[in-house]
Amino acid sequence: MVARIIPVDPFDLVIFGGTGDLARRKILPGLYRRLADGQMPAEARVIGAARSESDDDGFRALVREALDEFLPAEQRDEETIAQFLSQISYVQVDATGENGWDDLRAHMREGVIRAFYFSVAPSLFGPIAERLNARGIADETSRIVAEKPFGKDLESARELNRNLAAHFDESQIYRIDHYLGKETVQNLMAVRFGNMLFEPLWNNKYIDHIQITVAETVGVGGRGEYYDRSGAMRDMVQNHMLQLLCLIAMEPPSRFEPDSVRDEKLKVIRALDSVDPREIVRGQYSAADGQPSYRQDVGDPASKTECFVAMRVGISNWRWNGTPFYIRTGKRLKARASEIAVVFKAAPHNIFEEDHGLHSNVLSIRLQPNEGMELGVTIKEPGPGGMRLLDVPLDMSFAEALGPDAAEAPDAYERLIMDVIRGNQTLFMRGDEVEAAWAWTDPLIGGWEGRGDTPMPYDQGSAGPDDALMLMHRDGRRWREIRA
Ligand code: NAD
Repeated sequence: MVARIIPVDPFDLVIFGGTGDLARRKILPGLYRRLADGQMPAEARVIGAARSESDDDGFRALVREALDEFLPAEQRDEETIAQFLSQISYVQVDATGENGWDDLRAHMREGVIRAFYFSVAPSLFGPIAERLNARGIADETSRIVAEKPFGKDLESARELNRNLAAHFDESQIYRIDHYLGKETVQNLMAVRFGNMLFEPLWNNKYIDHIQITVAETVGVGGRGEYYDRSGAMRDMVQNHMLQLLCLIAMEPPSRFEPDSVRDEKLKVIRALDSVDPREIVRGQYSAADGQPSYRQDVGDPASKTECFVAMRVGISNWRWNGTPFYIRTGKRLKARASEIAVVFKAAPHNIFEEDHGLHSNVLSIRLQPNEGMELGVTIKEPGPGGMRLLDVPLDMSFAEALGPDAAEAPDAYERLIMDVIRGNQTLFMRGDEVEAAWAWTDPLIGGWEGRGDTPMPYDQGSAGPDDALMLMHRDGRRWREIRA
């Protein structure tokens, strides 16, 4: 099945932080793929803007290197690369000073969409927004894209929102959460709201609980110092995992359009219960086989920051009261796997005498690896031996069902950048949503900081601290296996 690609209108995209890690790893290779697919037009321009001393040729060389490093060989085509580089230029600009801004204004063309990607530290969002506005580089049709982290607590998120709102209307602000750009995450909405099969069962009468797991095998690597100031709760739960939770839990929006969807997500965040400290488990990986511990990785032998967190979250509304959401995320776990599992209740009565098992259907939505969905159904075990039952998956791997093109679906970043150009905010977080998420997160973090709680140690390559397993066992439930 060949995907239909509709080119976007011509644009000037300025990437602040264009020489940085995120631009090199994700944004620039993503744009190249959009050009190769025919979605980014030849009239589009990408302008790198950063503090580094460079010029057009210097930046093109950096982009070329990034494409060689971060794109698989089969995606690189010399002719397309030459075309891509011809659409790229560079402006040296100081976000907090005066240098470079006139030059940037001279680069912008009339009559095309102007977008500004803030791939820089959040402390620079305000200064850049102010200069774009004051110097007439942006106008009321321009868009700005804000990278994570959007604040470290409610207060700082409010300040960022205020700084942006002073120069841009909310309809121009695209707060990126790349989880929302994942194919499966959007498919989750298609499955929920495009089928009659699931929605009638999507509530506390039929769903026993929901598990959301984002497991990584990597440690904190080179960003230890930064990470230690943040931790798993701020880095993963407040944004990505709450967004996933919202998409599972929200009421059907009246239309698939930005404010309808975001209104429903906001209602979910506002209905989240506070979490009892006994329902939260925090962890840090220990040293193993010559591999440093979390504390060694971050260079602080007394660090109390978590790189693992698991918790039980309740939603106080008619649909979900009594159906818990269990969330866990961590580093150096046994596999790299992200999954949402919707675990239905067991059948109310077992008519099969030979079978003593407890069977419940599970809808598993895999975000990585092998994006896809799987529905566990109970069938009769084949062969003689009476009515013994067996749980088997009805698998729907997108690559298998839709052919190889589906496996090459755009990466989350490139899809979201195209949405910015198209002016579609559906998959971006609204300011009030981000603030509501911090308003829920802050007291939990404040609680463990105030008590001076120390995270539990856990083995590298495990499923996290034993207490995280107990969190579920106490409720008579168990986590699903973390497997790649
Ligand atoms: P980086 O340190 O690699 O790059 C920073 C970029 O900002 C460079 O291009 C630098 O020249 C530019 N810059 C810094 N100060 C400037 C100034 N005063 N004026 C103009 N330009 C200036 O950082 P990064 O890893 O690319 O991350 C950028 C932002 O994106 C950060 O806020 C980070 O938290 C966030 N982020 C990064 C990743 C990632 O994978 N790297 C993922 C998600 C979010």
